[in-house]
Amino acid sequence: MSTEVLDATMKSLINEDLLEESLAISWHGAEPLAAGLTWYHDAFARVAKFLDEKVHVTHIFQTNGTLITDDWCRFFIQHGAQVGVSMDGSERQNAARVNWAGRPAHRLAMRGIERLNRHAIPWTLLSVVTHETMSDPDAFIRFVRESGCRSLGFKVEETNVAHKSNLEEAADVERLYGAFARAVWRAFPPEGPLPVREFQDYISARRSTVKTQVLPVTLIPLRNLTVAINGDFTIFSGELLFRQDSRFVFGNVLTGPLTDSLKTDRFKAISAEILAGVRRCAARCSYYSDCGSFYISQKHAETGSFDAEETLACRLEIKTLFRSLDTMFGDATY
Ligand code: SF4
Repeated sequence: MSTEVLDATMKSLINEDLLEESLAISWHGAEPLAAGLTWYHDAFARVAKFLDEKVHVTHIFQTNGTLITDDWCRFFIQHGAQVGVSMDGSERQNAARVNWAGRPAHRLAMRGIERLNRHAIPWTLLSVVTHETMSDPDAFIRFVRESGCRSLGFKVEETNVAHKSNLEEAADVERLYGAFARAVWRAFPPEGPLPVREFQDYISARRSTVKTQVLPVTLIPLRNLTVAINGDFTIFSGELLFRQDSRFVFGNVLTGPLTDSLKTDRFKAISAEILAGVRRCAARCSYYSDCGSFYISQKHAETGSFDAEETLACRLEIKTLFRSLDTMFGDATY
């Protein structure tokens, strides 16, 4: 990303009064550390200058871990940045992750997380659960234990604009994923030292006494603003911003205000379609109060429309996970 794009984004957020008391800036997509430390030193100083003391900024890096050095670790500490490392488990389970030369990235990533651990940086492990992973939960659990991560999040291998999930064709995937979720719960229970994002979400849903409707960020325009390196932006889910597909680009920060995107025919058409899909979920899905129809990019990737209901991702991540944990607790709701 050029400093021009960064400055234009900051100016728009300020001039269009889109900021609240705190702002989380997530650096992700491809490999964010590839931009280099010098770039981030300058970028962080620019952000701080724009936002002054008025807004509390949290920087979050979502990295594959391969480029983490001691200098990066010192930078993370200096800025209190949060670090998420994308790894999918043991060397075999992580085999799909390759470096830019197409070679397995596992060993380099292991070196990166060793550095994070040496600097006592409390990083989060974010894993994609493939058929391979859910078939061998013990290997995954062993990896998590040995990795030194301080928290865990996992999601299933999804179909998106650039990738068709192998889970779509896999037999018995619900049983496998349910068993995987229960095994991970037993290994990392909520009262234990390792918080697991998916279980925290499950617990909040099950402990909630009032069934109010959750409103996911993917349904609130501009709440989850995602800006590409060339300034193109999308306003619902970041997963809609693929360079090969400009259908969900709502504007460019270099050419006009962010809020102009809300006046376009594209916005009207897409938001109406998203809303139709939400209505479908609300009318038919018994998990609607837990999920809120969050999965908009997956709906489009799988069906070609936002006006859709169930997807592979929600079937596993919400319905199967909730059902399998509910079954584990029986009447003793967690
Ligand atoms: S779980 Fe799936 S079908 Fe149910 S509300 Fe969420 S997105 Fe809709």
